[in-house]
Amino acid sequence: MNRIDIHGVKIHDVNMNEAIDLINSWINETEITSHAVYTPNSEIIMQAQRSSELKNTLNNANLLVADGAGVVLASKILKTPLKEKVSGVDLAKNLLKAYSGKDVGFYLLGGEPGVADLAAVNIISNYGKVKITGYNHGYFKSEEENDLIDKINSTKPDILLVGLGAPKQELWIHNNMYRLNCKVMIGVGGSIDIFAGKVSLTPEFIRKAGFEWLHRLLREPRRIKRMMDLPRFMLKTIKKRFIGK
Ligand code: UDP
Repeated sequence: MNRIDIHGVKIHDVNMNEAIDLINSWINETEITSHAVYTPNSEIIMQAQRSSELKNTLNNANLLVADGAGVVLASKILKTPLKEKVSGVDLAKNLLKAYSGKDVGFYLLGGEPGVADLAAVNIISNYGKVKITGYNHGYFKSEEENDLIDKINSTKPDILLVGLGAPKQELWIHNNMYRLNCKVMIGVGGSIDIFAGKVSLTPEFIRKAGFEWLHRLLREPRRIKRMMDLPRFMLKTIKKRFIGK
């Protein structure tokens, strides 16, 4: 798989169908081998500039795809265009569709207490016979982590959707994948809130136009600080393209 280097973060150049096919090939393996999937956006790529732990975690993913129009635009500016944006929420939705009626189990981890339960109910009513093996909120203490991992493993999910927000979910998956008996672990950000109907997804035409960041900022003004990384990301990209560093 071709990887495109965006400021030291090596994104796999796959479209949605290719990502689904790859995940499906892992699901069909007879042995349980853990695979990590992350979907960084430009903010996370900027955070990775300041944290080598995060950069290593991202680069060690089995599948790393671009969430966000900004990353795809940067790949074009750098003359190494990515095929398309593959966001965490769209990936999760496509997997739920693909495995509806099949013996492939999902576990939902993340969101405030009560949210993952609601997400599970909504998923079953919207996607038909999806096998949800269990769910847990994402505000557990570190001393509860061993029990949580046992709980997840006891339900034998194939796919673990981890919505703890970035970069917490990526670091959590990376540090725990050796003891999680799931074939695929995906960092899905706020998707569990979206499935629960707690927050609405940014409309597709706004996402396509590259203004998801503005929609989210208006909805959650507290994001302003981390969003300052967006102009920094674009500036860094333009500098790299025209000055070479
Ligand atoms: N969250 C969680 N545990 C935490 C912190 C956050 O489960 O310790 C959840 C939070 O409730 C929300 C999601 O993580 O459902 C973060 O959503 P956001 O849209 O901020 O995701 P990001 O943009 O960071 O990927």
